[in-house]
Amino acid sequence: MREVFLPRTLDELWDLLHRRPEAAIYAGGTDVLVKLRAGLIVASSLICLERIEDLKGVRDHGDEVYIGAATTHRALLADSVIQKHFPILIQALGVLGSPPVRNMGTIGGNVVTASPAGDTLPPLYVLDAEVEVRWGDGAQRLPLSRFILGPGKTSLGPGQLLTGVWLRKSADYNVHHFEKVGQRKALAIAVVSLAALLQVSDSGRIDQARLAWGSVGPTVIRSVEVESALEGRVISRDVLDHAAALAQTAVSPIDDIRAGGAYRRTVAGNLLLRLMNYAG
Ligand SMILES: Cc1cc2nc3c(=O)[nH]c(=O)nc-3n(C[C@H](O)[C@H](O)[C@H](O)COP(=O)(O)OP(=O)(O)OC[C@H]3O[C@@H](n4cnc5c(N)ncnc54)[C@H](O)[C@@H]3O)c2cc1C
Repeated sequence: MREVFLPRTLDELWDLLHRRPEAAIYAGGTDVLVKLRAGLIVASSLICLERIEDLKGVRDHGDEVYIGAATTHRALLADSVIQKHFPILIQALGVLGSPPVRNMGTIGGNVVTASPAGDTLPPLYVLDAEVEVRWGDGAQRLPLSRFILGPGKTSLGPGQLLTGVWLRKSADYNVHHFEKVGQRKALAIAVVSLAALLQVSDSGRIDQARLAWGSVGPTVIRSVEVESALEGRVISRDVLDHAAALAQTAVSPIDDIRAGGAYRRTVAGNLLLRLMNYAG
């Protein structure tokens, strides 16, 4: 029999983590419970974050927005602050898993899973998200790109918890674009995904570009080189073709059961051609 603990406060949680350092933590459980059932994780006790209210919800702090780590994908999709300021995150959440997965799964779970295919990650990278990590009597805020170290690997140490994600509001971008290519239309893990934030002038010139690809490397890949190839240029097929060729060399995909590396490389470039839709 496995023990399951349901702390209601962070203080209760710190105490539990101290007493049961071997326990596995879960929020929605859509990754952890599947892995437990498959025998990929062995844990004699589980600690569930679901009842800790401090870890849930979206808080508007003016220039910044705080998302509690245990906020579900469904709650984020319904949140008016996220809808207004971070449409690119809404686009990604809308294609994450299925309604039951979105009802249970959380943003913190998606981030800590640190899968290169995690759908919230490319949007969070282009938004320059920061994460808040806490432990008994300490806290740290660091860029998401420094928190995620590799596939399934983060900088979280023993007894540490991801408590939330910080996003800075920005009026700089008027194109918010996320696209995921999977093996089928629904309930598909990304074979390649692209998050793009662009500031496009009335004449169609790209003044700023931020691009991040999922599933084409050990972590999400951003490329300053590809961004620079777009900045200062009017959107055209030639400009996008050139950027697509650069993107294909910037990514480092592998072969796996879902797709070959060469296919992923081609798609990573081709996804940029979709930005033609935003030509003036
Ligand atoms: C059928 C199915 C389809 C799916 N489709 C997709 C998809 O399309 N796109 C996608 O991105 N993902 C998908 N997933 C994966 C999963 O649903 C998501 O990654 C989800 O966001 C995980 O959130 P969770 O709260 O359920 O994580 P959990 O399973 O609760 O936890 C995942 C990991 O994060 C850790 N963790 C969770 N919260 C914290 C915290 N606050 N601090 C420290 N550690 C924490 C846990 O210990 C565990 O290691 C799918 C899963 C299933 C079962």
